[in-house]
Amino acid sequence: MSEVVDHLAEMTGFRDRDVMDVTLVTALRELLEPLSVAIYRCVGEPGEERWLTRARLAQGDAVPTADPLWAESARLPLASDFPARLECLHNRKMLQLPAGNHWLALFPIATDREVVGVVEIETSEALAPNLQRIVGGVLRIYHNFQGLLDYSERDTLTGLLNRKTFEDSFLKAVSEAPSLKHSAQPDDGRRHDGPHPQHYLGVIDIDHFKRVNDNFGHLIGDEVLLLLSRLMRSSFRFHDLLYRFGGEEFVALMRCDDPQDAAQAFERLRQNTENYLFPQVGHITVSVGFTLVKPGDSPSSAFDRADKAVYFSKQAGRNQVNSHADLVQAGHLQEESRASAVELF
Ligand code: GH3
Ligand code: MG
Ligand code: MG
Repeated sequence: MSEVVDHLAEMTGFRDRDVMDVTLVTALRELLEPLSVAIYRCVGEPGEERWLTRARLAQGDAVPTADPLWAESARLPLASDFPARLECLHNRKMLQLPAGNHWLALFPIATDREVVGVVEIETSEALAPNLQRIVGGVLRIYHNFQGLLDYSERDTLTGLLNRKTFEDSFLKAVSEAPSLKHSAQPDDGRRHDGPHPQHYLGVIDIDHFKRVNDNFGHLIGDEVLLLLSRLMRSSFRFHDLLYRFGGEEFVALMRCDDPQDAAQAFERLRQNTENYLFPQVGHITVSVGFTLVKPGDSPSSAFDRADKAVYFSKQAGRNQVNSHADLVQAGHLQEESRASAVELF
């Protein structure tokens, strides 16, 4: 039991969700000595949901396995192939059932906004009620701490990541080594022959948002911001990082195989926004600028390029998507290294 308390202390000692998930499965393994224990998150488009393994420990495993942050949806198991997990998720209740010659206990994991996943514990005997209560207690601590993390990392209106977290999450995302050992990836990421994914950063700014506030008031303006954040979630993939940067400015950090994929995703958001009927307000549009994240880029240098491309989109008539590299190539913007070299002399 004292080891479990140690793990709980560790779980809440880092402000890092990956560490929290690893320490949660480690604590539950010490407590219950199960055949396996895992945290699965339900991700992806409605109707096409998949299970992403956040952390899994089986008997004899030295360290937990996990799917990579940028796992491709198609490689993950379909949510519908595990109906008990879905039942636990939808009913938001603990569930225990026999599975062959062992037992599965499933506990929902919720944030204040939604149920996001399940803890699945595989045991040879059914989990006794006193152990179920202890697991429930551990999960309440986990839940409360996640709530604190959300409070400091997320924008309260939209639930998107806030600007304060941009630098750290940018550096963590772009530096994730492709050779890390993950369950849904080949052992050596460098040897796979497919296209080499890269990161793209886009800035999204609502067109003439001041008019929305002036004509309909701030409350309706806030509702537009909330609805736009939902359009963003449905226009990008589950692993793309979405931020509200300030008033009516948003940022998306995505991983794509090539610039066409990135352009398509931003164009999808632009079209979804243009076509959406906002209550009372009617139609609004967004201007977007995006850039490839280059090796050695700082968060602010990548952001500045995307911001210049947004500025161009505004000047060129709004409701459009522009890539910084294309604007440089067309002679509309200066390559920044040349610009800074000029500044030096
Ligand atoms: P442009 O097309 O050039 O981007 O025009 P704009 O009116 O969207 O841009 P501008 O930057 O001039 O104005 C942004 C407005 O966003 C100013 C302010 O009224 C509004 N705003 C900023 N933060 C919030 C917020 O949290 N809620 C609401 N409702 N409005 C906000
Ligand atoms: Mg604006
Ligand atoms: Mg603005």
